[in-house]
Amino acid sequence: MKYVILFIFLYIQRSNCRDIIIGGLFDENKGLADVYSEGALKFAVERLNNETLDNSNKFVYKIYSTPKNNPFEALKKTCKLLEEGVVAIFGPQNIKNFDAVQSVCNAKDIPVIQTRWNVRPLRDSTVINNYPHPSVLSKAYLDFVRVWNWKRFAILYDNDESLKRINDILQLTLYREYNIIVRRLDQYNTGNYRNVLRELADHDMTNFFIDCRLGFLQDLLQQFLQAGLVNKRYHFFIDHLDAHVLDLWYLRYSQANITSVRLVNNVNNDEKAKEALCISYYEEDFFSDCFLRTSYPLIIDGVTLINRTLNAMKNVPQFEAKKLSCDSIDSWEYGLSFINFMKSESFMGMTGKLKFDNEGFRSDFVLEVVELQETGMTPLGTWTPHGGYNLARMNTNTSDPEGVDSLANKNLTVQITLTKPFGFRTESPNTLYGNDRYEGFAIDLIKALAEMEHFNYTFVLREDNDNGSKDPVSGQWSGMLGDLINKTTDLAITDLTINSQRAEAVDFTSPFMNLGIAILFQKPKEAEPNFFSFTDPFSLDTWAGLFFTFLIVSFSMYLLGRLCPSEWTNPYPCIQEPEYLVNQFTLANSFWFSTGCLMQQGSEIAPIATATRMVGIMWMFLILILIASYTANLAASLATENPEKLFTDVNSLVENAETKHIRYGAKKNGATYNFFKHSKSATYKKIFEHMRTHPEDMVRENVDGVTLARETQYALFMENIAIDYEIQRHCTLEMYGDLLDNKGYGIAMRKQSPYRSRLSSAILKLQSTGVMDNLKRKWWQEKKGGGQCVATESQEATPLGMKNVEGVFVVTMEGLIIGILIVLIEKFLSIWQISKRSKISFYETFKHEMKCYMDFENMSKPVLRGEDDDTNDEEYQEFSK
Ligand code: GLU
Repeated sequence: MKYVILFIFLYIQRSNCRDIIIGGLFDENKGLADVYSEGALKFAVERLNNETLDNSNKFVYKIYSTPKNNPFEALKKTCKLLEEGVVAIFGPQNIKNFDAVQSVCNAKDIPVIQTRWNVRPLRDSTVINNYPHPSVLSKAYLDFVRVWNWKRFAILYDNDESLKRINDILQLTLYREYNIIVRRLDQYNTGNYRNVLRELADHDMTNFFIDCRLGFLQDLLQQFLQAGLVNKRYHFFIDHLDAHVLDLWYLRYSQANITSVRLVNNVNNDEKAKEALCISYYEEDFFSDCFLRTSYPLIIDGVTLINRTLNAMKNVPQFEAKKLSCDSIDSWEYGLSFINFMKSESFMGMTGKLKFDNEGFRSDFVLEVVELQETGMTPLGTWTPHGGYNLARMNTNTSDPEGVDSLANKNLTVQITLTKPFGFRTESPNTLYGNDRYEGFAIDLIKALAEMEHFNYTFVLREDNDNGSKDPVSGQWSGMLGDLINKTTDLAITDLTINSQRAEAVDFTSPFMNLGIAILFQKPKEAEPNFFSFTDPFSLDTWAGLFFTFLIVSFSMYLLGRLCPSEWTNPYPCIQEPEYLVNQFTLANSFWFSTGCLMQQGSEIAPIATATRMVGIMWMFLILILIASYTANLAASLATENPEKLFTDVNSLVENAETKHIRYGAKKNGATYNFFKHSKSATYKKIFEHMRTHPEDMVRENVDGVTLARETQYALFMENIAIDYEIQRHCTLEMYGDLLDNKGYGIAMRKQSPYRSRLSSAILKLQSTGVMDNLKRKWWQEKKGGGQCVATESQEATPLGMKNVEGVFVVTMEGLIIGILIVLIEKFLSIWQISKRSKISFYETFKHEMKCYMDFENMSKPVLRGEDDDTNDEEYQEFSK
């Protein structure tokens, strides 16, 4: 009974519940609506339905995609949404489409929520724009220039739209105290900004204000880097609110000031939204961050705004949505009040405080200022329209506290390990002392740095080759990093991978080498020879083509042979006027002829007529080419080993490991192991699980893994730089798959070390002058057995496909067609001649001849004579029946 009442109650509740439909028109991307915008709307609507206690409204979303710059399509989709009875529509980002949507919605009094910047007045329109107003943003940018006291700087902008955003800053060019260079970046979309950058370098500009589309920023910053304009002298301000989504790992150690602003500050408190909408560029947890485009939380805030407006309008009598048709002139009678209620709402959303002015613009908001640091984009402070900037520090150009010569004449203890090729014991018949005891890449690098920076050094060896890892329980660092922190040493250099966990504990120089994780495994073994390997030179379609051509040619010989008058020959040459003629092209003979040609042995049968000869020649030509190709390819396929790869990349390794009995692992507690440990990707998590549950597959040092890989079916996850070293020396090993991540090796030192910037600059110098490359070549390729394994491109003999030989087949077929044409002409002439000679009508002659030819059982035919002729009328009569 209790349940029945509950059911009835729920039923009544449900029947009272009305559907509130929210429309979404999102730009089409590969035929689908932008998945993240769609995801944001779905997420917001579902969350509202789950969280709203009041069950009177059930929110429903209707989403359509609109191809960019297609206002007609946008119009059609808007009409569809209006027919559904939407209360509001999220408009597309594409401005042309948005204008079309806006025009219909204006006429129908349906609110349109815009989540991109807009400078055009919204007066008397139904648009609510929850993106920060460009004029206020422009003020934020101007404040930035003032706060940082930029008097000399360059403004780089991308298109005419940019000018509206940087309008206030451009006004500064009118003042004498400012020295501003304004340049449009790439008017002709060549993707080359180098000329502009060269010019700015010539002017010795160090501050850059960049207004550029997100898609171009990555290239632009890379070209800045190439032009040598990214180091601690330079300061960049990027005014794009989505700059934080960029993958700027390569600039993290540049020490340049890269500052930007964003609106998504509140997102970090909303774990669920983050999970649903964050784009993570890095699989590795250390670097992973929530990269959320501004428009997604703006959509979520838009949905909250609709819900709040509905609540505020609860008391409006008979308020309800209306289904509208674009063919009628009616509009939503509650539309304008709905919009007015929306404009008067004010609340804290995911993008901070939402408050609208009379026009429907958002002019009061908080921007978060972020700065690129080694761990990624890091918050530095905020900006508000009324309070301006509130930053943790105003000017980051604080230089090395100990002055520029801080390294000169210093005595530094440099810790090394005997990790190949970073450090070796020097082989010598004499007893060596001090630094002479060691040689290797790291030793040469420190030597070069010491020469440049004039410091003295003493190498200390870490015998256990432990680079350093953090104990998850005690939080203590082991290995070289532990020694640094405990002040036992000043610098540490080996294959020391920079990652953010380590970067929190110690300082690193700029990376002197870039690398990523890959797989080291045995080269594939030669596959077992195939029983049918003689068929290998041709692919199946070529064999099939040859077979069908053989059939076609044989039948053609048979048919053409019958049709060709010259193929009917006198069986007794000594009789001048034979009674009947015979034909050599029986079906069996035709096949025998083709077979003889195919085997290049010939046959007794020789075509006489032009047409049959034509077909024969073409067939022989085809055979000639195919046999030549077959012979060449057979030699190649017998000579090459067809390697049998057990796996090709990380995914196939994980999938096949068990079935193919492949063990895999990495260095215990090394950076590679930690990469898998902190990764969020399903495959990498699986790999970590395997590593955790199979400690026997983990190696103490990479050299042990290399030995295992050489001797057994063992795949070692290893950094590609180290793989490179090993495959130069062990020719049975090979690198598999692409790099799983992107990182670098750096020299480590204690936090706040005064040596860092000098050493980083020196490393950059060594890189740009080619010294680093020379050192790498010396220790990887030349010394200690390098360059033994000449990388031979494995040349697999591929079977000749139809694509390779289709030309000859076509030529043969053309020959066949020409043969048929010749036969027809020849036939016509011969019938005409016979009819003339025998004085029988052309038609009768034709009939007689055709009858003879169609009699497939008979390989002889009577010679036709006229009434004047005294011979063989009987037979003629018989045939003409
Ligand atoms: N380079 C790594 C580290 O610094 C060691 C080798 C590895 O983990 O592959 O720990």
